Amino acid sequence: MLQLQRVPQYLWPICVHTALIATLVTRSTTATSSSDYLVGRNKTVYNPSQLSDGQFLEYSNLSDKQHLREAIKNILIPRVVGTPNHGIVRQYIVQSLRDLDWHVELNGFHDNAPILGALHFTNIIATLNPNAERYLVLACHYDSKYMPGGEEFVGATDSAVPCAMLLNLAKVLQEQLKPLQSSKLSLMLLFFDGEEAFEEWGPKDSIYGARHLAKLWQKEGKLDRIDMLVLLDLLGAPDPAFYSFFSNTEQWYMRMADLETRLSEQHLFERYVNSGVARRDPSRYFQPQALRNSQVEDDHIPFLRRNVPILHLIPMPFPSVWHTTDDNEGVIDYATTNNLALIIRLFTLEYLLGGTKAA
Ligand SMILES: [Zn+2]
Repeated sequence: MLQLQRVPQYLWPICVHTALIATLVTRSTTATSSSDYLVGRNKTVYNPSQLSDGQFLEYSNLSDKQHLREAIKNILIPRVVGTPNHGIVRQYIVQSLRDLDWHVELNGFHDNAPILGALHFTNIIATLNPNAERYLVLACHYDSKYMPGGEEFVGATDSAVPCAMLLNLAKVLQEQLKPLQSSKLSLMLLFFDGEEAFEEWGPKDSIYGARHLAKLWQKEGKLDRIDMLVLLDLLGAPDPAFYSFFSNTEQWYMRMADLETRLSEQHLFERYVNSGVARRDPSRYFQPQALRNSQVEDDHIPFLRRNVPILHLIPMPFPSVWHTTDDNEGVIDYATTNNLALIIRLFTLEYLLGGTKAA
């Protein structure tokens, strides 16, 4: 297990729209008992065992890089809410999952946005077992940012790559995930709509889909079914550095860090560590460090406020192309993308199939 250390502040260029680095917490403890592994709003103890060496090798060898590239290409068009392209991308996501035997539900609603006025938004909710009692939720947003000057913005990292990673996970793990079609603990993929602000980021202009869904599920009593919401955002650029943002999911974050270490030690990554593209070499993706009160606003916020455990996979600092037209295919580092997709797949399998140790 890695130990969490203090992050030197000089590592932090100031990011726009985030009030970063409020507090950095030093942690010296890692999970020592199963009671450290708590999930859901009701704090259920859940401690799936780590993947055995056999499972680890078998699952690590599963991949379909061609499919991942194709999925990215299919999503990588301007897809502002309400435009025909937005519908095309939504349909592509929905059909891809239905073809893989997922149960897909569309959660549509109306809201008013600055500049564009009344808009119809649609969250995509895909489950392997719609009647499961508990879910691990993997989430991203599929809309792209509206650019007032009419510039072409395709949002590669924001968030075409994260969406493609989730579709790729469903494709690559199709056989392994089959038992989850009838299990009490299952997997949900959530594609939020309207994450982006149309005019200026604020409580009424941003995360339209997430705000709607968190409120709806609270009313319907469905939030208690979520073990943890893992939110993927701004992925695909080289040399990302992740941090543990929330203490209540820190053990799960460390599981991801451990999987990264295990893959690295067994030389199962492509062109790992330094891509040669970024000037900074973070030496690993999952930093053994905690970053609290970072105030990064994203789709997790309405769920976080309702006490749903959150694991936020967003690099710090953000990719340098963030919210510029350069966030296009040119910024995607496929080795990094494949490596991250692999860590997320292994985490998903470990979480859902690892089995429980005696609590
Ligand atoms: Zn964005």
